[in-house]
Amino acid sequence: MRIRVGPFLYQVRLAHGAIEHDGEMCYGLCDHLKQCILLSDVPPPTQRLQVFFHELMHAWWYHFGGPDADEESAADLVGMR
Ligand SMILES: [Zn+2]
Repeated sequence: MRIRVGPFLYQVRLAHGAIEHDGEMCYGLCDHLKQCILLSDVPPPTQRLQVFFHELMHAWWYHFGGPDADEESAADLVGMR
C-alpha cells in the first residue's frame, strides 16, 4: 500500500513480528530516507491502525514540522506507539 504525505509517496509495509529499532522492540517505524512506514503484524488491526497514524505523523513532522510541542508528544495525539 502507498500513501501520500504531501508531495511525498510513502510505502506502507507489514512486518512479521515486532520491529527492532535502536535496540528496542516496537510496533511501527517510519523511515524518512526510504519513505517507508513499517507496521508490525503483532497488534490486532484496531491497534495497528493507531500505530499507523502515529508513524504517519512522524512522516508529516519530518517533512513539514509541527506545533510548538516535541515530536513524540505530537505523534501521541494521533496514535499510540
Ligand atoms: Zn514515535
